[in-house]
Amino acid sequence: MVSTVLYTLVFVKIVHLNKNTEMRTKEVRIFVYEYKTLSELPDEDQKLVNAAREAAKSAYAPYSGFSVGAAIKLASGKIVKGNNQENAAFPTGLCAERVALFYANATYPKVSVKTIAVTASNHEGIVEGPVRPCGSCRQALSEAEFRFNQPIKVILDGKEKIQVLDGIDSLLPLAFKPESLD
Ligand SMILES: [Zn+2]
Repeated sequence: MVSTVLYTLVFVKIVHLNKNTEMRTKEVRIFVYEYKTLSELPDEDQKLVNAAREAAKSAYAPYSGFSVGAAIKLASGKIVKGNNQENAAFPTGLCAERVALFYANATYPKVSVKTIAVTASNHEGIVEGPVRPCGSCRQALSEAEFRFNQPIKVILDGKEKIQVLDGIDSLLPLAFKPESLD
């Protein structure tokens, strides 16, 4: 039996233009679907999380000890994996999500990304709370959605709960998008 808890987070943007202009409020809602255990997820999502957990085992994280794994399922059904690659010169490294995403886009440039699962482990095993992508990875994933005009489902793994999002807009509301360049 699936026990999904639905959370609604609300962001409010308030714009004060000037004294003579009515204040405008914009509400942006995101939905986070939460599961207690991996077995509650559909089989294909379980498989993707397990692929991410497998990828985390090969992470190069000697400095942080925080091994991140990402697994991407393409529209073709192909699963592509990545993990964090750290460097003594810290900014030189790259997150697991972008390692997987850029590899997928470089190798299968015409195939859209359907789902990404992300997990992380430290010396005690899988981290308790769901791991959350950094801002740069959110931006890269947002571009991948635009590139293929296809929402990317996000699965954030954790020992105590697993969270699922419908798309990158839920990770990065009010994102900088290609139309922002106009
Ligand atoms: Zn990142």
